[in-house]
Amino acid sequence: MKYIGAHVSASGGVDQAVIRAHELEATAFALFTKNQRQWRAAPLTDDVIAAFRAACEKYHFTDKQILPHDSYLINLGHPVADALEKSREAFIDEMTRCQQLGLSLLNFHPGSHLQQIEEQKCLQRIADSINLALEKTEGVTAVIENTAGQGSNLGFRFEHLAAIIDGVEDKSRVGVCIDTCHAFAGGYDLRTEETCEETFAEFERVVGFRYLRGMHLNDAKSEFNSRVDRHHSLGEGNIGKTAFSWMMKDSRFDGIPLILETVNPEIWKDEIAWLKSEQQS
Ligand SMILES: [Zn+2]
Ligand SMILES: [Zn+2]
Repeated sequence: MKYIGAHVSASGGVDQAVIRAHELEATAFALFTKNQRQWRAAPLTDDVIAAFRAACEKYHFTDKQILPHDSYLINLGHPVADALEKSREAFIDEMTRCQQLGLSLLNFHPGSHLQQIEEQKCLQRIADSINLALEKTEGVTAVIENTAGQGSNLGFRFEHLAAIIDGVEDKSRVGVCIDTCHAFAGGYDLRTEETCEETFAEFERVVGFRYLRGMHLNDAKSEFNSRVDRHHSLGEGNIGKTAFSWMMKDSRFDGIPLILETVNPEIWKDEIAWLKSEQQS
């Protein structure tokens, strides 16, 4: 069973995201549980939590189909102590919000060294940040997203993801989310079925499908290996439709949220319907 959806808006309340996903005829969705461009947010109230849980039940979404994303401001590998502390606190708050909402995954970008510390040190710092957050929360898995490798962002090599996982103590609560646009921009080809096979064989060898907790399905405006993060609608970018069609027929992508972050929300419903139809064809 494939769970297919999009990163929907939570404006008006997190329960509204559930309704938006239902309207798209999605079987998965992603959301921010707070404003992603601000450090602080009011705590979730009992009413908000109850409304979210009720909407999930009404529209048949379980925690396995929902992939919340954390704030863009958080850098769990920050080279400066004060800033690292601020990010760690914000991340624990994000994990706590997920726990309160009955969610079991939290998707985040690993972090950036800002040219101030070595790559290996930054990766270890990220793993330490995850360990702290796992200690302070229960039942939520930290899902590391691969990046396009813009600027000093780490996570664009599968080896980075593996190194972070290696430093996490509780392996049962760490996983990864592979964004197809980021992988392509990071140098993993997906333009043909053969290159898809090769890329995911490499993923299996370096990280392992047992850690795959979600996917972001995005075509790329950016060029192959450009290290530039620019999403496009499925089939309109430099990856093309083949990769997405190929994935829909591969059972290794079953049972995890497959989330569109494509550039035109107007066609999300069509993109979801097309992905669903590709499972059988
Ligand atoms: Zn993504
Ligand atoms: Zn992106």
